[in-house]
Amino acid sequence: MTSPKNMLNNIQETLLMGPGPSCVAPTVYDALSKNTLGHLDPYFIKIMDQIKVELQKLLQTENPLTIPISGTGSAGMECCFVNLIEKNDPVLILINGVFGKRMQDVAARLGARVDTIEFEWGTPVDLNKVSEHLTDKHYKIVAVVHAETSTGVRNPVSEIGELLKGSNTIYLVDAVTSLGGIPVKMDEWNIDALYSGTQKCLSCPPGLAPVSFSGKAVAAIKNRKSKVPNWYLDLTMIINYWEGQTRAYHHTAPINMLYALYQALNDVHSEGLSAVFDRHLKCHKQLVAGLENLGMQMLVEPEYRLPMLNSVLIPENTDEAQVRKKLLTEYRIEIGAGLGPLAGKIWRIGVMGHTAREGNIEKLVNTFSEIL
Ligand code: PLP
Repeated sequence: MTSPKNMLNNIQETLLMGPGPSCVAPTVYDALSKNTLGHLDPYFIKIMDQIKVELQKLLQTENPLTIPISGTGSAGMECCFVNLIEKNDPVLILINGVFGKRMQDVAARLGARVDTIEFEWGTPVDLNKVSEHLTDKHYKIVAVVHAETSTGVRNPVSEIGELLKGSNTIYLVDAVTSLGGIPVKMDEWNIDALYSGTQKCLSCPPGLAPVSFSGKAVAAIKNRKSKVPNWYLDLTMIINYWEGQTRAYHHTAPINMLYALYQALNDVHSEGLSAVFDRHLKCHKQLVAGLENLGMQMLVEPEYRLPMLNSVLIPENTDEAQVRKKLLTEYRIEIGAGLGPLAGKIWRIGVMGHTAREGNIEKLVNTFSEIL
């Protein structure tokens, strides 16, 4: 049997250009390898406090309850819904891809009365339809995915926030793929609850889910009639570890992942938010031009395209799985397949975080031109 040492030593460097995880920055790998401290060590608590501040800056929010949840993006999704929903609460989910569908599943499992408005995959949420729907019925929560990773569509999050302005509806947004790649302005866009993940545009491995809750969302949690039906994600308890003079143990924090997030957030802020967003956009344009040059077409209309997730139509008479296999085994480049109705029709090319660099785009486009 191969020893673990050999197994690990044989891990090949791979250019991660799929829907996530993306490449991890060397600074972040370095942070991961630092000595593990105890979860109540005052030095570690200082790092936790810094992470909150850096996350607030990234989310452009003043919400005090802005913390990373232990777990991947889906844990962030569960955390938002499980803390906000009580049985029979009316919830509206706007769906145009896999992750909107996942929200529906999570909310329904919690006993919410879930309504959905569905839009064709590859197109954005239509504001007129949402607006019409909201005049007919009042919802406790309206939820949408900002960057739909299954299609490469950017949804009009700020405009939906405008529709909900002044109402007591809680506006919940999935920013797993958008955070760190395009602006996310939580306060300006009236977002009340938001979750994200570390493995997309933050150049970190998977493992943490930043979340943030507005005063309105916190009040809804405090005014619950029933206990949060999930122990691990119950914010009323987690808060006691992340806030206050004296911290109380809830669960053992994933210490080294938090070092990684701390470093990644510092890297983003040292580069500067607008420079980071520009880099993603520049790489996206370079990629689209390169693919179009090879005769390929994008799925999404230019104005709704995400810089960090590019859906390209598979050229006719192409064995798409074979191409992905060849890219991975011969060139160590990973790209993603289509999901659901888009399976076999598109490839999903991620340009996220540390992956979003000119040389990487050049490498993929050149490789495509060689093998297609
Ligand atoms: N939401 C979106 C938009 C995603 O892209 C993903 C993962 O790809 C998730 C939620 C779920 O995150 P995770 O796979 O980290 O649990």
